Amino acid sequence: MEHYIVSARKYRPTTFASVVGQKPLAAALKHAIATDKLAHAYLFCGSRGVGKTSCARIFAKTINCEHRTDQGEACNECESCKAFNAGTSLNIIELDAASHNGIDDMKALIEQVQMPPVDGRYRVFIIDEVHMLSSAAFNAFLKTLEEPPQYVIFILATTEKHKIIPTILSRCQIYDFSRITISDMVSHLSMVASQEGIQTETPALGVIARKADGAMRDALSIFDQVAAASMGNITYQSAIDNLNILDSAYYGRIVEAMLGGNVPAALVIYKEVRDKGFDSQFFINGLGLYMRDLMLAMHPATINLLETDEEEKAQMEQTARKCPPQMIYRAMDLCNDADLNYRAAANKQFLVELTLVKLCQLCSPSPGNSGDGEGQLQPIAAPRAQSSPAPQPSAAPAPASPAPAPAAPVVPPAMPQAPQAARPAAAQPIKRPSISLSIKGKGRAAQPPVAQEAQAAYNSGPKQAQPYTQEALLSAWVAFADARPTERILVNTMLACKPVEVEADRYFVPVDDAIQVDKINEFKLEILAHLRQSLHNDNIDFDARIAQRGASPVTWTNREVLQHMVAEHPSIEGVINEFGFKMA
Ligand SMILES: [Zn+2]
Repeated sequence: MEHYIVSARKYRPTTFASVVGQKPLAAALKHAIATDKLAHAYLFCGSRGVGKTSCARIFAKTINCEHRTDQGEACNECESCKAFNAGTSLNIIELDAASHNGIDDMKALIEQVQMPPVDGRYRVFIIDEVHMLSSAAFNAFLKTLEEPPQYVIFILATTEKHKIIPTILSRCQIYDFSRITISDMVSHLSMVASQEGIQTETPALGVIARKADGAMRDALSIFDQVAAASMGNITYQSAIDNLNILDSAYYGRIVEAMLGGNVPAALVIYKEVRDKGFDSQFFINGLGLYMRDLMLAMHPATINLLETDEEEKAQMEQTARKCPPQMIYRAMDLCNDADLNYRAAANKQFLVELTLVKLCQLCSPSPGNSGDGEGQLQPIAAPRAQSSPAPQPSAAPAPASPAPAPAAPVVPPAMPQAPQAARPAAAQPIKRPSISLSIKGKGRAAQPPVAQEAQAAYNSGPKQAQPYTQEALLSAWVAFADARPTERILVNTMLACKPVEVEADRYFVPVDDAIQVDKINEFKLEILAHLRQSLHNDNIDFDARIAQRGASPVTWTNREVLQHMVAEHPSIEGVINEFGFKMA
C-alpha cells in the first residue's frame, strides 16, 4: 500500500541544486567542499523553514561522498550516500538543542565526538537551535569547539543569531540564510504540484507562499492542507477560503470607493467583510498594508520591494497609477491611527466606519481642509445624479442678498473691476483668435461627440460672454467628468480638484502631482470647449498646477480669502459688486 508522505518531507532537498531560495549560499558551500577548504565549525543563521537543517545534511552527505559529481554534488549512489539517504549513517549526529539542552545531553554528544568515523572522512555534528543550550551545556561544549578532532565538523544552526555569544561567533564560519522569496516559493510549489498531479492557479500558490511568511517547510504543509481540502484542484478561491484569508479584492474595492469619494460603498464593503467573519482590526490593518503596497507600486524604484509575483505587481501598479500619492500617504496614516486607537475604542465598528468616512474624503478636499483632511468631515455627498450637462445659460447670477457678514478687514481697499462687470452683457461679434484648436493635436484619438462639441463651441456664431454662476461652472465641470467614466484618472482629478477663480473667467485648478497636471492638460481643450459652450462664455480659461497642499487659509492673501468666500458662498459676490469692491 502506497502511503502518504507529507510534501515537506517528500520534497526535502537532497542536493545543493535543489535547495530553494539560497543559491549563493549553496554555491559557497559547494565551492568550499570542492576546494577542500573546510572549517571545523559553521554557524547557519536564519528564520525557521529557510533550509538551514537541509543544507547542513546535504553538506554532511556531500563531504563524505566517495564519488562527487562534476557539479560538486553528492552522487547518491555510493555506500556513504546510501547510508545518509537511509538515515543509517553514523557520520551524522543531530542534536536538537531546543528539546535537549541539558548538560547530560551535551556530555553524550561530546562522547560521540571522541569516536573517529568507521568509514568516510568526517563526522558531522548538527546542533539545531544552539542558542537554547543551558549555560552548563554551553560551557562543556565550548572546550570541544576550541579543539575538535580533525575528523569532526560542527554545524550550529540558530534562528536567533543575536543570542550567540562572541566566543562562539569568532570560532565559526557564519552563513546567513535569507528569507525565501514569494516567487521562489511559488515556483517550487508549482514543481511539487506538477509532480503530484495537482491542478493549481498561480495566484493560489502566491496566497500559500505569503501565508508561509518566508518558510518553505510551512509553505509545503499549507500546500498539503489546501490540496487535500480542494480535492486536487487548488484555485485562488479554494486557497483563500481554506486559509481564511481576506481576498485582497476587498481592499481594491475600498480604494475605488476612496477615489470616487463613495462613503456608502466603503461602508457596504466593510459590512461584507464582517459578514465573512473577519475581525475589524484585521481588516483595517490589512487595508493599511494594502496602501503601503500601493505606495511601493507607485514608483519603479520601489515596486520590486513588493513580495509578490509579476502579475500582481502589474495589477498593483495599475491601481497605484489612479491614486494621488498624498491620498495613499494619508490613508496609511489614518489606518495606522485606527489601529493604535482600536484597543481603547469602546465602539470598534464605529471607529473603523469613521476611518472609512475619512478615507473616502481624502480625494475630495475643499479649500478649507485641503491637505489635512482629517478631522473636518464633509457631509456625505448624495450620489451625483446629474449626468445631464450644462445648467441653463439664463441661470441668474446670485441674488444680491446680504451674505453672512464677512469679517470686515478682509476686503482690501483698492480693487479694479468686479468680475461681473468684466463680462460684457451683449456679446460683440469678435473675430476668433487664430488659435488652431486641433483635438487630435495630442496624437490621441478624439472622442467623436467631444470633437463635435468642441467644434460647435468654436464654429458657431460670434464669441459669447454671458454671465454665469460658480455653481453652474462647477456643475459643468463635474458633468464633463461624469460623462467619461472610463477615464479614471481624469474623473478622479476633476472631482477632487475643482477650479478656483483667480480673476474674471480665469481659473486655477489646484492638483496634487504631475500626473494630474498632464491628465487635465490632455483634456484641456475638450474641457474648455464644454465649459464655454455650457455656460455660453468663451472667455473661460483655466490652468492646472500642482498646489501646495496643507497651506492653511491663514497664509492666504486677502484676494484668495475673498475668492474662497465667493467660491463657498456665491451670494457674497453680489455684495461685493453692489459695494463696488473689486477682486484684484
Ligand atoms: Zn556518494
